[in-house]
Parts: sequence; C-alpha cells; structure tokens
Amino acid sequence: PHTITLIEGDGIGPEIAKAAVEVIAAAGVDVRWERVIVGKEAREQFGVLLPDCTIESIARNKVALKAPITTPIGEGYPSINVSIRQKLDLYACVRPVKTIPGVKARYDDVDLIVIRENTEDLYAGKEHEVVPGVIESLKIITSKASSRIARYAFEYAIANGRERITAIHKANIMKLSDGLFLEESQKVAKEYPSIRYDEMIVDNTCLQLVLDPHQFDMLLTLNLYGDIISDLAAGLVGGIGIVPGANIGLEAAVFEAVHGSWPDAAGKNIANPTAMILTAVLMLRHIGETDAGDRVETAVHRVLKEGVTRTGDLGGTASTTEMTQAIIDAMGDAKGR
Ligand code: NAD
Repeated sequence: PHTITLIEGDGIGPEIAKAAVEVIAAAGVDVRWERVIVGKEAREQFGVLLPDCTIESIARNKVALKAPITTPIGEGYPSINVSIRQKLDLYACVRPVKTIPGVKARYDDVDLIVIRENTEDLYAGKEHEVVPGVIESLKIITSKASSRIARYAFEYAIANGRERITAIHKANIMKLSDGLFLEESQKVAKEYPSIRYDEMIVDNTCLQLVLDPHQFDMLLTLNLYGDIISDLAAGLVGGIGIVPGANIGLEAAVFEAVHGSWPDAAGKNIANPTAMILTAVLMLRHIGETDAGDRVETAVHRVLKEGVTRTGDLGGTASTTEMTQAIIDAMGDAKGR
C-alpha cells in the first residue's frame, strides 16, 4: 500500500477530504492514510498550530493530500498553508485550469496551466510596523527561487507537450524585484528554444484572460499574482469548485485544491467535492497510479457531462455526498461494461 499523509483541514475541508478518500478507495488504490492535524485542533493537543510531527509525516511519506485550512483575516496567526509550503520547500504550485464538458462556463476549450512560485514574494507575509500608522510588507524575490520555478515550468512544458510560456510580472513598476524574476526566466527560456517564451504585465494579463483565455498556454508567475490569477482562471471554466492543484518540492508534494475552506458552508454537505477529487487524480498520477487516476477523472467527467448530479455552484441541487457517490457509481458502471 501507499502511505500518504492526510490533512483534513477545517471549514468544508473534512467533508471534501472524506469524498476524495472514498473515491480513491473505490478506484481500488490501496492507501494507508496517515491522518495528521494542524490549526486549532493541533494547538489544543500540541500547543502549536503546525506541529513538527505533521511536517515530519509529510517529509517521511513524501506525499500528502490536504484539504483547505482557514486563515484569520487581518489578525491572528499566519497562514498554516503558507508555512507548510515554506517548511517543506514546496516551491512549485501547479494548477491546471481546464474546461470540463458539461460544466456551464464563460468559455469552451480552455486549457491553461498556471505555474506559481510558492515560497517567497509579498505572499510570505513578512510584515512589521515601522512606527504607529506605518506598515512595511517585504517583497522578497531571489534569483534562486525565480530560476528554479522558471526551470520547473519549462521542464513541465517539455514533459507535457506544451508549447508556450508567458511570464507574468509587474516589472514596469517593481523594476528590481519583478525585474529579477524576468531576468532569470529569460535566462532559463534560452535553454529551451522549442518552447515559445513571452512576457505580459499582470493587469493586462487579467484583462486578456477575461477577453480571450485561448491566447495563453502556460502562465509562469510570482506567488501573489499566481494566487489571484488562479481564482480568475477558475472563474473562466465554471468556478473554483472544479479546479485542482499541487504543491511540488524536490523532497515532497502536497496536493490541494485551489479553493479555500469556505467556512460558511462547513458541515452543510453542499461543497463541490470535484476540485478535491481532481486534486486526488493529480496525486494518483504523481505516485504512479496512472490508470486509477484516469478512471477517477473519466468518472468525474462523465458525471459532470450527464449533468444529473451537480452541486449548487454548478447549478444543481446535489449534496457533497451525493456528488461523491455519483462519481463512485460512474466508476463502477465503467467497470461493469
Ligand atoms: P474560498 O475558496 O473558501 O471561498 C470563496 C467562494 O468560493 C465561496 O464563497 C464559494 O462560493 C466558492 N467555493 C469555494 N470552495 C467551493 C467548493 N468546494 N464548492 C463550491 N463552491 C466553493 O475563499 P475565501 O472565502 O476567500 O477564503 C476562506 C478561507 O479559506 C480563508 O480563511 C482563506 O485564508 C482560506 N483559504 C485556504 C486555502 C488553502 O487551504 N490552501 C486557499 C484559499 C483560501
């Protein structure tokens, strides 16, 4: 069996984590789940929000499936999600944003890959009060992190038959920091002449994505822009309830959907489990369970195409558990035929 760390998170996290675990079991993959805790539960048990044993479990197993975790807004503790990525140096955030037939969306045939640097930038949340009324927030960009994320993107392009990478930046204003990111991306791009490389300012990218997403192939960008662009791109294909994601490092990988913990929906059995289940598909492929990953993906697509069982975000009335069961049933049907 595969031993995989499971973080059930909070908000809608436990419900969608359960959905993914059930679907993986139904796909016939033998997994020994190592459940670990973070956040308030961990603070009660261990006195810290992100216990060492949680990080050690991921480092040991090298793979984790993680549901979302709430981060307090404007106060309270720093993001546990960001801490996990930093502690394990999960430097590459990969988010495939793809049209799923049958899902009502702004566009058809969208097929984008967002590659986001995952460890530094303003997103690291390094802030302090200089004097009362004045806050400094540090945007750290290094040549090392810029170069390795660019290399990751080009290697991904080669491995996955992609043709073009657009580096997204704001180097017209942040000439030094975003300028360094561009400089490193350009250097790496020269080593991959078969991949078309170009650049676009982030605000124009948002406009262009909304006007015509088909003009892009892969988007390579910094941490904060990548966070925002991922949600925007999800909106182009029918919403955040269907877009998966992965955080990849040299030593470990943590698979999590793009969306957050949607606290208002916690315990209501209304969240769409699709993003988490497609995240599990990425994970299954990562651990070499390609056939099982394909089976799950085919079942998800079948259910969404048939359109009988859909959660509220996709215009239906199905619950999280009904959607999950429909996907499991679709796998069973495929086996029977
Ligand atoms: P969110 O993604 O939780 O929710 C935004 C909206 O998206 C919801 O109102 C809902 O309409 C929709 N949505 C989200 N998940 C859905 C699902 N599975 N099915 C159907 N609809 C879904 O974003 P938010 O409200 O900005 O953030 C809530 C909390 O989540 C915050 O504390 C934030 O820090 C945290 N967060 C965590 C992660 C993570 O764990 N990686 C990522 C993003 C946000």
